[in-house]
Amino acid sequence: MSPSQDERGGGIVIAIDGPSGSGKSSTSRGVARRLGLRYLDTGAQYRALTWWMLEHGVETTDADAVAAASLLPQLASATDPDGYGITVDGRVLVDEIRSAEVDAAVSKVAGVHAVRTRLIEAQRECVRSAVAEGPGIVVEGRDIAEVVWPIAPTKVYLTADQAVRAARREAEHAGAGRGREAAVTLAELARRDAEDAKTTRPLDAAPGAVVVDGTHLTLDEVVEEIVGLAKGR
Ligand code: C5P
Repeated sequence: MSPSQDERGGGIVIAIDGPSGSGKSSTSRGVARRLGLRYLDTGAQYRALTWWMLEHGVETTDADAVAAASLLPQLASATDPDGYGITVDGRVLVDEIRSAEVDAAVSKVAGVHAVRTRLIEAQRECVRSAVAEGPGIVVEGRDIAEVVWPIAPTKVYLTADQAVRAARREAEHAGAGRGREAAVTLAELARRDAEDAKTTRPLDAAPGAVVVDGTHLTLDEVVEEIVGLAKGR
C-alpha cells in the first residue's frame, strides 16, 4: 500500500535515486553514517532475486516464469550501513549479486510486475519500521522518490556524466579482480540504463527531487551536500 501523509511520523527518510554507477551506494551509506540512519539498497534486492533465479534455472527473459518464481525465495535486507545487506534463503550474498551474469539479467527481472509488487511492498515495510522506530533511513534505488516513498521529505537525484560513471564502475570491477575494457563497461552501462528506462526513470529526476551532479565532486562533497539538504541548509 502506498504511504499516506499520516505516515510521515518523526523519522527522517532520504530517497536517493539515480542511474548505474552514479555513486548511489557509497553516497547513501555515507549519508546514513553521518546522520546515524539506517540504509536500504533496493538494487541489491532486485539483484538477489535475479541471482536466485539464475541459480535455480529460471529463464530470466521469460516474464511468466519470473513472475511464477518471484515469491519463492525468502529475502531479508539488513539495514546497517556498515554491514552486508542481503540474505536469500538464509545465505548472505555479497559478490555474487555483482556478477556480470546478474548485471546482464537484472533489468529484465526488475521489469516484471510481480517482482516489483513484491519488492516495493517489502521496501515500504522497511521504511515504515525505520520511521516508527526512528531515527530514519536512507533508501537508494531508481523509483524511491516517485513510487516507493513519495512522501520522503528529502529526495535526491544523483547523477554524473556517463564516462565518469563508467570509469567508477570499471574501478569497482578492477578492485573485484574482473577488470575489462573501459569501452565494454561504458556499453554495458548504457545498455542497462536503456533497459531500466522501460520500467523506471533512471535518467530523469522525480518531481520534487534535487539534482546532485557528482561529475566533479568527491564522495565526501556529495555526502556533505545531501546531509546539508536533509538538515535544510
Ligand atoms: O542500483 P543497482 O545497479 O544495484 O540496481 C540493479 C538493478 O535493479 C537496476 O539496473 C534496475 O534494473 C533494478 N532496480 C530497479 N528499481 C530500483 C533499484 C534497482 O528496478 N529501485
